[in-house]
Amino acid sequence: MPMKSYHIVILGAGGVGKSCLTAQFTHNVWIEAYDPTIEDSFKKLTVVDGQSLLLDILDTAGTEQFTSMREMYIKSGQGFLLIYSITSLQSIGDLPALHDQICRIKETTEVPLVLVGNKSDLENERVVSRGRASFLANKWGGVPWYESSAKRRVNVDEIFWDLCRQMMRLERGT
Ligand code: GDP
Ligand code: MG
Repeated sequence: MPMKSYHIVILGAGGVGKSCLTAQFTHNVWIEAYDPTIEDSFKKLTVVDGQSLLLDILDTAGTEQFTSMREMYIKSGQGFLLIYSITSLQSIGDLPALHDQICRIKETTEVPLVLVGNKSDLENERVVSRGRASFLANKWGGVPWYESSAKRRVNVDEIFWDLCRQMMRLERGT
């Protein structure tokens, strides 16, 4: 099978763990502190269900000066990870507007997308209930939803692979 390549965009409020999740997935490392203003893209080869994939992953920093920049990378993205932190109500509150923006720009609600509640290791600081997140995932048409920990490397590969399967399905038209 020839290799496929996909463009993934990681979105969510500052501090939720976008860069840490990206580093764990692409380089298997836990780095405690990143410059929150750094926006970068990473290439990663992976195999999902026997298919070789070259992923181009954009780790956004939310510092875009013009909303037209965000529009540009949403346009070019084929799959999206929408990240919040289970320790921040504000971070999940930010996501519906982003989801709306993605659907508007893509002109469809059938967009490969995964909802991710990161920092699951901080259970004692939890303020976002599982119920609230699953309600949101259902409201968006039943998008997959996970809780992850970049720190403990829980559900890191799974969120990316789930997204890859959705992009592969969309391409096959099934
Ligand atoms: P970003 O702004 O979304 O890219 O967030 P970062 O990846 O830079 O992470 C922000 C802060 O949260 C850093 O201090 C990280 O060490 C911390 N962090 C990220 N993921 C986790 C996690 O899964 N568990 C815990 N406990 N801290 C995390
Ligand atoms: Mg970051």
